[in-house]
Amino acid sequence: MQERKRVRFALVTFAVLSLALLGLIAYRRAEGLRLVRRLPSHPDRYAVRFETMGTIGNIVVVAPSREDAERWVRAAMVEIQSINESMSTYRPDSELSRLNREAAGGPVEVSPRLWRVIEFSVKLSERTGGAFDVSYSPLRDLWRTASARDSLPTREEIEAARAKTGWRNLRLDPEKRTVAFAVPGMKLDLGAVAKGYALDLAVEAMVREGMKQGFVDLGGDLRVVGRAETGRAWAVGVRDPLKPAEKTAITDKLYLADAAVATSGNYERHFNVGGKLYSHIIDPATGWPVTEVISATVIAPTGMESDGLATAVSVLGMDKGLKLIEETPDAECLLIAMRDGQPVQKRSAGFDAYEKQTP
Ligand code: AMP
Ligand code: MG
Repeated sequence: MQERKRVRFALVTFAVLSLALLGLIAYRRAEGLRLVRRLPSHPDRYAVRFETMGTIGNIVVVAPSREDAERWVRAAMVEIQSINESMSTYRPDSELSRLNREAAGGPVEVSPRLWRVIEFSVKLSERTGGAFDVSYSPLRDLWRTASARDSLPTREEIEAARAKTGWRNLRLDPEKRTVAFAVPGMKLDLGAVAKGYALDLAVEAMVREGMKQGFVDLGGDLRVVGRAETGRAWAVGVRDPLKPAEKTAITDKLYLADAAVATSGNYERHFNVGGKLYSHIIDPATGWPVTEVISATVIAPTGMESDGLATAVSVLGMDKGLKLIEETPDAECLLIAMRDGQPVQKRSAGFDAYEKQTP
């Protein structure tokens, strides 16, 4: 009798445990199929992490329900994907790649979105005296070749590449929305602004669908909407450029509401030539990668402005870079350079206000 009871008890325990395990597996599966994950630390926040535009994207939204969160996130991802498909130079089928193949032969009509980014870039090129140059791409190709063969470009190679660059050699017709290249071998690259523009479209799409609080992060470029659930500004870390391997090491904490921030750093992507690392940002005036500014953080109302300005000040350097930001309404910056082995900072007049949490 005793024996029977024990067997029954064992069987029941086994059945209960098996069911619990099956339930757990089913739950984990369903969770895995879901687009967004609910954050245990903040029950009203839903998040998604994904790969895009050669980087990692993160979207976080404050939502009354999972359904809302999924709808918003999906709308954002569609926009980011569409910008990647149209403006990537890594895709031969993108609209930008087609433009690069055809515009030396005569005017090519572009979509309103591509037009908007090119127009913004050309204005920034003009404002920065060509330090920012949407047509710098032949120089990038040269430095890629140099990295692959592991020897520095020669002066002749740099001059040959520079001859194919220059935003002044672009022929734009705003009425017809056409772009033509006046010099053969010209090419456009939107790597400095496309992520920012994708942020703007993603945020606008979510806001149209009803989202009021959240943010989109594309590999360090970020745009926040509203404030966090607590009513306080969103806290955003600026990566420490001296500790590139430690992704969580931060040099500054910013508090943002309805704003965008971008950091251009030489720790992100490089050309490696002869074991030495060179920045992926190139000064079109010299044809050489920039060395002075090791991290440029720019806060601005939109993603495209903060992204474009961060790259532009990286080329301009500490003094001219700061001046550009001081002259831009609603933009602030924190620039870091190395002097005698020590990091030195320059901040625009209104930057410090973003380092304090609002009451
Ligand atoms: P970001 O990561 O936003 O600083 O942008 C860096 C990207 O900007 C590079 O990967 C290049 O695609 C692009 N870039 C590099 N140098 C320049 C330049 N002088 N003008 C415009 N874009 C540039
Ligand atoms: Mg940029």
